[in-house]
Amino acid sequence: MPKSAPSSAPSPASTGTLTRRGLMFILSSPSGAGKTTVSRMLLEHDPDICISVSCTTRPPRPGEIDGKDYHFVSRAEFDRMVADEEFLEWAEVFGNCYGTPKAQVKAGLKEGQDYLFDIDWQGTQQLYQKLERDVVRVFLLPPSIDELRRRLTGRGTDSADVIAGRMDRARSEISHWDGYDYVVVNDDIQACFEKVKKILEAERLRRARQTGLIGFVRELMQPGG
Ligand code: 5GP
Repeated sequence: MPKSAPSSAPSPASTGTLTRRGLMFILSSPSGAGKTTVSRMLLEHDPDICISVSCTTRPPRPGEIDGKDYHFVSRAEFDRMVADEEFLEWAEVFGNCYGTPKAQVKAGLKEGQDYLFDIDWQGTQQLYQKLERDVVRVFLLPPSIDELRRRLTGRGTDSADVIAGRMDRARSEISHWDGYDYVVVNDDIQACFEKVKKILEAERLRRARQTGLIGFVRELMQPGG
């Protein structure tokens, strides 16, 4: 006897049927806590999540690619997009404007696409207010203040004032940690990544998200099925 008799209704997972809405997975942290590395690892590891590419008014850094790292736009274009309500959220972060374009994400969520957001606490609050049921908020912390300072000191070419400014910004970001669902201390990048991955996996399995399973479950519960 096979362990379970073949069912007339194959499981949605086996047929690739859409079983849930996509989720919005937000990773925030102060600069120097490893958010960029963890985001990259997640995107490389998991084909079912893609990054939401933000618009920004800040100039590209060396190596950054327009359309991949950010959509680099002028302040006038950014203001126009705000006026035309093209952003799901936007915020000014340390003197530059950043925003999440609405169109792509909204359509993708309906099709079950998961999105990763590398945004600050202000954007996180706005997304949560608008789309609470879709949002998962994860905050990364550095392992210690000494390690944070070491990571923000860079190659040792910056002045003490510049480093102090970075530390102030990091402290300011950290003060918003209580606006997140999950907090992970990044004392080891691989361990941190594994934890973030588990959060994503568990969140995908939330019953409330798996609306597409309703028909399947009803069938499983049919008397005499
Ligand atoms: P950076 O200029 O170093 O790439 O990013 C500076 C800060 O802006 C980071 O904390 C980053 O998470 C945040 N950020 C990037 N894109 C967005 C966005 O679309 N919205 C918001 N609110 N913050 C963003």
